[in-house]
Amino acid sequence: MVKILIPTPLRPYTDKQDAVDASGATVGELLADLTRRHAGLKPHLYNEQGKLRSFVNVYVNDEDIRYLQKEQTPVTADDTVSIIPSVAGGAPSVTDVVSGVSRTLPELTNDEIKRYSRHLIMPEVGVEGQRKLKAAKVLCIGAGGLGSPVAMYLTAAGVGTLGIVDFDVVDFSNLQRQILHGTPDVGRSKLASAKDRLQALNPNVDVVAHETAISSENALKLFEPYDVIVDGTDNFPTRYLVNDASVLTGKPNAYGSIFRFEGQASVFATKDGPCYRCLYPEPPPPGLVPSCAEGGVLGVLPGIIGVIQATETIKLILGVGEPLIGRFLIVDALRMRFRELKLRKDPDCPVCGTHPTVTQLIDYEQFCGVRPAAPEPITVNSATEITSVELKQRLDRGDKLKIVDVREPNEYQINRIPGSELIPLGDVPKRVNELNPDDEIVVHCKTGGRSAKAADFLRSVGFKKVLNLKGGVLDWIDKVDPTQPKY
Ligand SMILES: [Zn+2]
Repeated sequence: MVKILIPTPLRPYTDKQDAVDASGATVGELLADLTRRHAGLKPHLYNEQGKLRSFVNVYVNDEDIRYLQKEQTPVTADDTVSIIPSVAGGAPSVTDVVSGVSRTLPELTNDEIKRYSRHLIMPEVGVEGQRKLKAAKVLCIGAGGLGSPVAMYLTAAGVGTLGIVDFDVVDFSNLQRQILHGTPDVGRSKLASAKDRLQALNPNVDVVAHETAISSENALKLFEPYDVIVDGTDNFPTRYLVNDASVLTGKPNAYGSIFRFEGQASVFATKDGPCYRCLYPEPPPPGLVPSCAEGGVLGVLPGIIGVIQATETIKLILGVGEPLIGRFLIVDALRMRFRELKLRKDPDCPVCGTHPTVTQLIDYEQFCGVRPAAPEPITVNSATEITSVELKQRLDRGDKLKIVDVREPNEYQINRIPGSELIPLGDVPKRVNELNPDDEIVVHCKTGGRSAKAADFLRSVGFKKVLNLKGGVLDWIDKVDPTQPKY
């Protein structure tokens, strides 16, 4: 038996286990056995042609199987196999790495000497290093969970120019982790709130607010004046956009991402190092990997990962230590384990390889299969969907409907539709015999995405009348029962 480590997003398909044993002499046999034992995993690991999906990487110990013998890679009981899906960053300094331009370093004022004294007495920083920090320009994409600690520590450390790109407004549900913002900031623009907080922390830093959505049209121009890009985004289209724009402009990208208790960090797009696409050439199809809004995130986790990104940024500027280039760090906060995987520059990488096919920025929404933001259609497909108002009317007139809530138990504790039964999405296949295929069934989740998958599944196994509640329990609360709390 060989131990296979299961990442958080795939644990719903392994009965919540974080490690599973399977048998096989090669990685291919092992994965075949794994998907026999846990059939729900199969569509997440393999495409319709039976090929491993390109957004799933498999490691034997710390090596990517693409650089071993792929699925023929032999395994023994002493090996640990990890599945790493993309998750909903002797060191030359930045000026050397990036542009080769040696900028004239600004002098420090007496106030700055006092403020940064704990840096100045360290040989790795010193007056010279602090002047490099003052000369440096860092662009932080996002003023949210990751952007908060990144911006605060870089400001405190004395990075001379800190650009921040964001267009969002502070929401109550942000405060659990986005420590740039406080309760009185709810409803304000994140950038205005961030700027106040950062200028109070260190008025010497030039905080440049870019109140815009980063796009293929503006990214290259936005990146141009900066030395290092810090990726604090939470969605795939922006992540690929930030990666490609970093490669095309030659700016290192201090990458981080978070999901529930698990985080990832690396440094991409340096001159000889790999980029995000060397690891994941293509994004997962929409909906297959949950986002933080759907799956949740431990409030301190962006603190851990964001601080790693800020540390890497400072090291790149100073040109000290060993940057996280060619290494992919995985943090499991629940077990407090840090794992490191090797990452290579892929000569066939579509953007940083020897024959790149991506030579300018593309339409990332389309690339990631995300539909462009259009006003929500009001039409309801009455054969497959039901609105919360219709559901209420039918319940009031005594129709026999079985309501199945496919969210997780902790979401069910926050709010629910009276009379609904909880069967979390991951449990639906094995608990399907608790439902009667002849009943009329209404499935719902928070907003309708997970329940659409549950509805498809139920129909595929012979359920005749399955309706998906449009807009989920949130719509029910908006239209039918405003007394319940939303999340
Ligand atoms: Zn690459």
